[in-house]
Amino acid sequence: MVGVWGYQPRWITFLEGRNKVFQEKQYLHLPGPTPVPPRVLRALSEPMINHRGPEFKELFEEITVGVQKTFKTQNKVLIFPAAGTGGMEAAIVNFISPGEKVLVASIGVFGNRFAEIAGRFGVQVEKIEFEWGTAIGAEQIATRLQADRDKEIKAVIVTHNETSTGVTNDLVAVRQAIGNHPSLLIVDAVSSMGAVDLRTDEWDLDVVVTGAQKAYMIPPGLAFVSVSARAWEVAAKCTNYKYYWDLVSAQKYSEKSQTPYTPALPQLTGLRESLKMIHAEGLEQTFRRHALMRDMTRAAMRALGLSLLAPDEVASPALTAVFAPEGLEANRLRKIAREKYNVILAGGQQKLDNRIFRVGHLGWVQPLDIIAVVAAIEMVLLDGGYQIELGSGVRAAQKVWLDRG
Ligand SMILES: *Cc1c(COP(=O)(O)O)cnc(C)c1O
Repeated sequence: MVGVWGYQPRWITFLEGRNKVFQEKQYLHLPGPTPVPPRVLRALSEPMINHRGPEFKELFEEITVGVQKTFKTQNKVLIFPAAGTGGMEAAIVNFISPGEKVLVASIGVFGNRFAEIAGRFGVQVEKIEFEWGTAIGAEQIATRLQADRDKEIKAVIVTHNETSTGVTNDLVAVRQAIGNHPSLLIVDAVSSMGAVDLRTDEWDLDVVVTGAQKAYMIPPGLAFVSVSARAWEVAAKCTNYKYYWDLVSAQKYSEKSQTPYTPALPQLTGLRESLKMIHAEGLEQTFRRHALMRDMTRAAMRALGLSLLAPDEVASPALTAVFAPEGLEANRLRKIAREKYNVILAGGQQKLDNRIFRVGHLGWVQPLDIIAVVAAIEMVLLDGGYQIELGSGVRAAQKVWLDRG
């Protein structure tokens, strides 16, 4: 607190200092940005290199292979300096021409965002919306595509992991729903890639978009887009406007292990390091760790009497959305968690604002971190006047972990 004319009386500093936690160590439990490991932070500060030189070629080739492995694809994956949303824009302007129609299946904020982006670029958007907290009903996509006799729908657009609700969609079911219809399948995998299994080639996903600051454990500022052979054919004929997002141009440069314009070099050296970490743990183990943290979080919240937004069958391994208890606003709960315990939780977005809080458990997060977060939430609930048995959430989380072996 700063008093009149910026003068800060010593007694206020003293009072504020009491019971305060060590501010330097924050428990950042957002579904992005996520904590960045020290070795990645160090890799971010390497000296600049010539982005048209031999060191860059080596870096480019190494990260391309590492990233393709996380996508489980042989397709080209292009990396842009941008937020994830930029990758979503690339997925529209390269494959859908103005006036063409797409079908967006939305289960929350990010599905709606994809629809909005397409709309801004003159695309006819047909949206199938599902209740927030539920997953896509693939039958509805199948029914709609079967009715599309003239094959007007050029793409089906889905969110793999809907970050606003903590729901993961079944991409295999969506692919099956498309069947023989020639529509492309475009996937927003920003919060799922690296936390949830995603098999680009096996599941026949045409365009997959992801970003840096979720399970890749690097700071925000990179967007990744993979493109299937079928999608390249469409891109060659697409008339939508783009320059920065021109994937065909990026693909040409990638043949020389270069990018069309200056890449975000620090981000790429950071990515090289985080990919080493991901592949040293092993992707399948990474997915198991995320699923364990999901199950620990869910068991703990239930033991504390709190309700979860997503049902078990579709619950996301990346984050958990929890309803605040009666009489305690979600945003007040988050404020206490931040101010008193230095635990940063995400709020609800749009119509879920102040109703839910979201616990991010993706990226550089361990099961033991979840126990710390649960312990803090227990204390926050007591602080907020909600009666719980101290330790009951922690115990439930520990039991899940022990049972998993
Ligand atoms: C975070 C997120 C985005 C957007 O990423 P930005 O980097 O903020 O643009 C898009 N889709 C999903 C599912 C996300 O979780």
